[in-house]
Amino acid sequence: MLQRPSPWMNEDLELLADTARRFYEREAVPNEMRWRAEHKAEREYWNKLGAAGLLCISIPEEYGGGGGDFRHDAVIIQAQNYALVGGGSNNVHSGIVAHYLLQFGTEEQKRRWLPRMAKGELVAAIAMTEPGAGTDLQALRTSARKDGDHYVINGAKTFITNGWHADLVFVVARTGQEKGGKGLSIIVVETNNQEGYRRGKLLDKIGQHSTDTCELFFDEMRVPCENLLGPQEGQGFIQLMNQLPRERLIVATGGVATLQRAVTETLAYVNQRKVFGNTLMKMQNTRFKLAECQTLATVAQSFVDDCVLRAMKNELDLPTSAMAKWWVSDTVCKVVDECLQLFGGFGYMNEYPIARMYADARVGRIYGGSNEVMKELIARSLEAHALG
Ligand SMILES: Cc1cc2nc3c(=O)[nH]c(=O)nc-3n(C[C@H](O)[C@H](O)[C@H](O)COP(=O)(O)OP(=O)(O)OC[C@H]3O[C@@H](n4cnc5c(N)ncnc54)[C@H](O)[C@@H]3O)c2cc1C
Repeated sequence: MLQRPSPWMNEDLELLADTARRFYEREAVPNEMRWRAEHKAEREYWNKLGAAGLLCISIPEEYGGGGGDFRHDAVIIQAQNYALVGGGSNNVHSGIVAHYLLQFGTEEQKRRWLPRMAKGELVAAIAMTEPGAGTDLQALRTSARKDGDHYVINGAKTFITNGWHADLVFVVARTGQEKGGKGLSIIVVETNNQEGYRRGKLLDKIGQHSTDTCELFFDEMRVPCENLLGPQEGQGFIQLMNQLPRERLIVATGGVATLQRAVTETLAYVNQRKVFGNTLMKMQNTRFKLAECQTLATVAQSFVDDCVLRAMKNELDLPTSAMAKWWVSDTVCKVVDECLQLFGGFGYMNEYPIARMYADARVGRIYGGSNEVMKELIARSLEAHALG
């Protein structure tokens, strides 16, 4: 790897990185093309991830997790991104949903679900987005009305990562009539044999084909009130806002490994491809483009490393995580595009990793909060600063 050692790395984390790299090379790389064709991995892949200790690594051991912190997540995220494999989203499962549960779940909820998530016995998803509302979460319409000791949930969600395999879906639903975010709650749905729960078909995306993404439908679906995340209703919006800096850092962290893989792949290609009697690497344009790409990759890594260190000290603020998310995901798209160009027509062939990276990278600018919204958040913090 061209990537420099991160300042937060240590020997234990190196060992974890090695375990993760070997796991993805052995269990995912040989299957990735088949998974892409089928738009999902087989369910057992999650159990293998669990057995290898790669799920819920930053969840305390008392809840069955690996007892690590964000650095451990980062090592696994980067190993997976560098290997260019999907097969489901561990980022959503371990990096996002497990932390909703850890931070806001009752003790009973944590003990009930986290250990099984860590083993891969339960696959988790988070369902916020609806056909009519994505960025504007306050416009969500899925409803959860109380009936005795149950919620009755009606509505539809779309673009749900891990949606096909999900055994636990954290559904954002309206429990109150209050306008905007105040009436939202998160309710955990155990999908196995759940009446009124239906998965739509696997969605046909332009990239990230091996990760299952689905629509989900809820029709008079009865869920026990004890599955409300946290002790009281109306906390959903606050819970979502609270976890967003972590989610954004996850996107940026993965992007650092994608950048390095793009440059590494391209470097190998241009050093063997002959044009006009010499290797492509000898053309000044190639040299300058690769120099630019490697500079961007290095800047991205330095910024993200700084964010990781801040996150370790609980000092990663909202605007900084927004900067990391938008800038790194934008940079990934630019760099992969430049690299693809150097492959000529081969860069357009799916059998070449750079072609898959091109399609896979695009969504980074859309999900985890779109990049326009990231800029709006940064602008708001500037405005607040200017107004004192
Ligand atoms: C592959 C994939 C996986 C996903 N996984 C999940 C998942 O697991 N769970 C989940 O809940 N959702 C998931 N999503 C949904 C994703 O989070 C949303 O697509 C995203 O939040 C954008 O919402 P939207 O698609 O409704 O677009 P819209 O909100 O309709 O936005 C359309 C455009 O308008 C812009 N825009 C919106 N508001 C503003 C504003 N205030 N200022 C300036 N511009 C604005 C946006 O930036 C965007 O460019 C996934 C999406 C994809 C594609």
